[in-house]
Amino acid sequence: MPKENSPILNFLLLWILPGLIFYFIWRQASKGIQARLGTDGNFMSFGSSGAKIYADADVKTTFVDVAGQDEAKEALTEIVDFLHNPSKYAEIGASLPKGALLVGPPGTGKTLIARAVAGEAKVPFFALSGSEFVQMFVGMGAAKVRDLFKQANEKAPCIIFIDEIDAIGKRRDAGMGGNDEREQTLNQLLTEMDGFDGRKGVVILAATNRPESLDKALLRPGRFDRRIQMELPDLEGRKAIIEVHLKHVKHEAIDMDIIARATAGSSGAELANIVNEAALRAVRMGRAQVTTADLEESVETVIAGAQKKNKIILVEEKKVVAYHEIGHALVAALQTHSAPVHKITIIPRTSGALGYTMQVEGNEQVLQSREDLFNRIVTLTGGRSAEEVVFNTVTTGASNDIEQATKLARAMVTRFGMSGKYDMMGLETVNDAYLGGDASLACSAETAADIDREVLQMIKEAHEKAKQLITGHLDVMHRAAEFLIERETITGEEFMKIVEECQK
Ligand code: ADP
Ligand code: MG
Ligand code: ZN
Repeated sequence: MPKENSPILNFLLLWILPGLIFYFIWRQASKGIQARLGTDGNFMSFGSSGAKIYADADVKTTFVDVAGQDEAKEALTEIVDFLHNPSKYAEIGASLPKGALLVGPPGTGKTLIARAVAGEAKVPFFALSGSEFVQMFVGMGAAKVRDLFKQANEKAPCIIFIDEIDAIGKRRDAGMGGNDEREQTLNQLLTEMDGFDGRKGVVILAATNRPESLDKALLRPGRFDRRIQMELPDLEGRKAIIEVHLKHVKHEAIDMDIIARATAGSSGAELANIVNEAALRAVRMGRAQVTTADLEESVETVIAGAQKKNKIILVEEKKVVAYHEIGHALVAALQTHSAPVHKITIIPRTSGALGYTMQVEGNEQVLQSREDLFNRIVTLTGGRSAEEVVFNTVTTGASNDIEQATKLARAMVTRFGMSGKYDMMGLETVNDAYLGGDASLACSAETAADIDREVLQMIKEAHEKAKQLITGHLDVMHRAAEFLIERETITGEEFMKIVEECQK
């Protein structure tokens, strides 16, 4: 590089180049604004969102892809029929509901079934997520709603689907201050829904897992007045969903019953994930087909994380973990009103679990009695109790048990009216039931303190019961723990055999 700069080069670098850069930036920026304002370039009018909203004209998903959810399908069949033949309804003068709201926990197939309605009816499908309406500039979201309805009207019969509608449909008075952009968008949506002719064949579907947060105006007759409930699948539903997803992978004959029972409480999305994990495992193992064992292992991977194969655990610690798990299993086995033990393992998992005891309900209960729940708490305290009785020590291994036991005991006192003291008084309300449900106390501070005492009392009782059960069956504890340490994983049947042999 030459030491002395030429004056011409200096001039160019100092004056011309920055000018060029500024010009370039300005051009890009004004192009962006132009695009956002639409091509008319009228800076005062937010007439069009400019963004073209594309309809999926050829949706391949049909009701066959949605397993279970028969009630939802039935409710939507009428809409499909209407879209096939709107004039049939128009002749009589009947107008179908303009909108239907799909409600349920995440992963139950709301988005899926909305697509399936379009696929069944063979009509264009305008799909947008609620958050896509919430734009940076006030007024843009409303413009997008206007655009959407305009285009949908041209394409009728068709379906408009607004996923996660709570992003725009939240109650307007809720929260501090409010959000102008969101409110304008919501108002526009309400206006459009009133404005269009329901007989033309435009059906609006929306999905949410927070129905209680929606603005009342959205739910009134003439708007989303049909509510379609999507629930977590029951035993048969889970079998059906697993079958639907197994169609896409090569597999041997699968023992559906085992898998479906082991996945109680799983959503459709989780089941789909389990099938995929099983297929991945089959590939890893160099097999060409998915087996029942693959599925069983992937159920555990999804619930508890993958196996940590090379984690080194001290022999002493392994012994504590084994007794801890056998403690859970033994307490569960000795109580009636308690799900049978399916599997006990002390192979550490990536989630941090050092071992676990899997219980599988024999039959799907919808109601749980006070005994059922109390026995669950006893089972949860069984692990710690075993450590205390056998080693006369306590470890950090029970942290998760403590959390779960406390949650359960709390719910029994505050929500299920299962403490003698508070009878049928509701002390807690649950928000967002479909999203795990945070509970907020609805009582005085004194009562809150007293609830803590009730909860503690209940847990203490359970812990005491577990300790007694274990002390009374130490022979089973030792034999089962020894067996578990040797094998690392034992089945519920193997465990029950030991229990029965010792009881002879
Ligand atoms: P949601 O919108 O209710 O949160 P999705 O419709 O997005 O759930 O579901 C996610 C995935 O889970 C789907 O793509 C599908 O693979 C699977 N799934 C969920 N429910 C079902 C079901 N009933 N039948 C088949 N697959 C399902
Ligand atoms: Mg969804
Ligand atoms: Zn435990």
